[in-house]
Amino acid sequence: MSENSSPATNRISTYLMLIVLIVLALSIVALMLSVNAFIIGNEMIAGYLLLIGLIAMALSVYVLLQSRKRMARMKIEAPKVMTTIECKKCGFKNVREFQRGDFIFKELEDCQKCKDKMLITAIYKEVKEKEKVYGV
Ligand SMILES: [Zn+2]
Repeated sequence: MSENSSPATNRISTYLMLIVLIVLALSIVALMLSVNAFIIGNEMIAGYLLLIGLIAMALSVYVLLQSRKRMARMKIEAPKVMTTIECKKCGFKNVREFQRGDFIFKELEDCQKCKDKMLITAIYKEVKEKEKVYGV
């Protein structure tokens, strides 16, 4: 399904993931420093670091879950790419979902009717009526 999501949204989520991972790493560092401070005997600093670490970790996990939810929603809403296959001999037409490696004028399996080779004649994005109305 990766061909359905646009490269722009992929790049944004990659940046987001990077930031989340950095925050997560910093929170782990804060927790380790907190343990260190606790061992040394500086309980106040240990408490602060523990708090910072836990907040940062909770925040990054929250953002991660939210972005995953959003990405799942985007996947559902993404328009399907359709491929039209036509038989040049008898005009038999078939429409199916786009498959990796499809291109226009590619020869495919034999026609169901006349057993001649079928050709891909069109590849297009399926636009839903709702999207047309709201101009999305
Ligand atoms: Zn045919």
